[in-house]
Amino acid sequence: MPVPKKRRPHARTRTNHAYNFKAAGKASGVCKNCGAAVLPHAICPVCGFYKGRKVKVTKIEKRNARQARKAEDKK
Ligand SMILES: [Zn+2]
Repeated sequence: MPVPKKRRPHARTRTNHAYNFKAAGKASGVCKNCGAAVLPHAICPVCGFYKGRKVKVTKIEKRNARQARKAEDKK
């Protein structure tokens, strides 16, 4: 089993982890269509809009369409 050569100081570990926490909490953009927090240069996960136009069918929309189809079949 591989063993670390040197002991890693507490401060070094925390410094490294701090960068990950910073990256995880990032959502500096706001969707122009629905107002949800989005990552910069990314499609909105809520409505599927990017730069003011629809580019993706979201999972929520797919689910709603499926449920509507099922309701239609039952009738
Ligand atoms: Zn949106």
